[in-house]
Amino acid sequence: KIGEVADEVPVNAFAVGGFVRDLLLKKRNLDLDIVVEGNGIEFAKHLAGRLGGRYRTHERFSTAMVLMPDGFKIDIATARLEYYEYPAALPTVELSSIKLDLYRRDFTINAMAVQLNPQQFGTLIDFFNCQNDLKQKEIKVLHNLSFVEDPSRIFRAIRFEKRMSFTMAPHTARLIRNAVKMQLFGKAADTRFFSEIRLIFSEENPIPAIQRMADFNLFQFLWPDLKPHLKVDRRFLHILLQAQRAIDWYRLLYLKEECDNWIVYLLAIMGRSKAEVLEAFCKRFLVPQKITDNLVWQKMHADKVANLLARRNALRNSEIYWLLQDLDIEGLLYVMAIARKSTVKKAVSNYVTEMRQAATLISGRDLMALGYEPGPAFKIMLNDLLDARLDGIVTSKSEEITFIQE
Ligand code: ATP
Repeated sequence: KIGEVADEVPVNAFAVGGFVRDLLLKKRNLDLDIVVEGNGIEFAKHLAGRLGGRYRTHERFSTAMVLMPDGFKIDIATARLEYYEYPAALPTVELSSIKLDLYRRDFTINAMAVQLNPQQFGTLIDFFNCQNDLKQKEIKVLHNLSFVEDPSRIFRAIRFEKRMSFTMAPHTARLIRNAVKMQLFGKAADTRFFSEIRLIFSEENPIPAIQRMADFNLFQFLWPDLKPHLKVDRRFLHILLQAQRAIDWYRLLYLKEECDNWIVYLLAIMGRSKAEVLEAFCKRFLVPQKITDNLVWQKMHADKVANLLARRNALRNSEIYWLLQDLDIEGLLYVMAIARKSTVKKAVSNYVTEMRQAATLISGRDLMALGYEPGPAFKIMLNDLLDARLDGIVTSKSEEITFIQE
């Protein structure tokens, strides 16, 4: 259908990038990227009409997005015809626009296209011998200036390498080392860095990629304050593995609340640093203020609580509850990751599985029925009651009523 719409407009339409890569690898990919030779915006409008989806356009960049009712997302970009001006006498050369579009991509494995117009449907477009690199399982840039143009690609290279168990082509690895030497991260006024770091931490298993980042000496740019343990030493690795364990444990609980795993890993990496290090990191990589505030608050609060829990033995459930109740799930899993004592881990896991959802059986309305006047005292009474519930002092509604009346 997409191809038919392309013919109607008419434009040449191609599926590109990660979609084609995953198609050739026979992996599922739910994001379709389309590049159009011609008017991409027009194409997007027609496509949305035909597929019964909604569309959003970004005229300035000639891009659009079509969102299907089932959540399937199609990104559409326009490949423009570009002219290469050669100096002096040589003629101007017109490059086929899809070729130029593919040449500008990050790695060869992501630089293939599949034509969608019906006549040529399914034709693989591979100008740079990309399919061979995919077969060889190699991450390779398309040209030598790739990382100079966009150093955030370094993180992408690492992410793809570790996710798919590919290897970095030697020349590409050399270009990364050169880029690191040139300190291309010095000025990070580019939000792409943070997006890419976040994507690494959101991978199924980000630890090999984090180790690879350290191998390439990237920590010096990301966390200059971590210098003493610039290398991934045993303690550092231990915290990361504990973070992973906590995340896996939480996943298997199948609770409704989603956990942003990247936050847990980011906090864990900062496990041995002060909150200011995290704050400086956020500032350097232009993390939005709201996210920064939350990250810093979670870290400070979690560090404090972890300390308290470690120092005091035999806390009552209600005490644990009030200590942990302000932390998000990410902060809680972080506490589990940095805790050295099993009692602390146990306290947090109990809190997550049992106490977090705890509530009193009687409500404010019940209190009114019992003849109490509504007011600030209500909250205090209900909190006391919750404590009693958490500590097993009351277990039924009638016990709760007696507790209140006493
Ligand atoms: P994932 O499976 O992680 O979504 P993807 O390959 O689909 O991987 P996206 O970040 O969605 O990755 O990017 C889509 C495509 O856009 C890539 O396949 C690549 O061709 C191109 N691309 C993305 N980021 C860059 C970049 N920084 N430089 C060049 N090309 C890029």
